[in-house]
Amino acid sequence: MNEYLATRYGSPCRGCGYDWSIDEHRALAIVAELPARVEALVAGHDGTEGAVGLDWNVSAYVSHLADNQRIWADRLAGAALGSTAPVVPYDEAELAAARGYDGIALESASWSLRRSTGDWEAALALARDGDVGLRHPEQGDLPLGSVIRVLGHEAVHHAWDVARIVGA
Ligand SMILES: [Zn+2]
Repeated sequence: MNEYLATRYGSPCRGCGYDWSIDEHRALAIVAELPARVEALVAGHDGTEGAVGLDWNVSAYVSHLADNQRIWADRLAGAALGSTAPVVPYDEAELAAARGYDGIALESASWSLRRSTGDWEAALALARDGDVGLRHPEQGDLPLGSVIRVLGHEAVHHAWDVARIVGA
């Protein structure tokens, strides 16, 4: 159990209902299915849609999913390749502002999400060989199963955000 995130989001998550003790294989499947799930949700939309109470538009959530997945892939690959350095946290709101998430074409964001899912799977394959985990300054020690569950939550939570915007 990731106590830091379970406390921050609730256990289960107060928003999306994610159970932090989810089976690892189920979490992996959720991440693998994410690009198709998002593409189905956004079909017929142009990405500029937003909703009251949500910080970002559809394109921005898809870009966040892609970037966040790629960042976790980088972290995992680094550890698998021998790094013992702790994870360097990033500010997702600052990254969104720097990249101009709200203006990114939905086609670009969706393509990027598929690519980042591939990066994640490649990093996962590297990490599996050495049973690699990560050390996060806020979340503590994250064995591989915990990293997988963090990505599973991101997928469920932001697909829920997108679903709320498009009314799915
Ligand atoms: Zn959630």
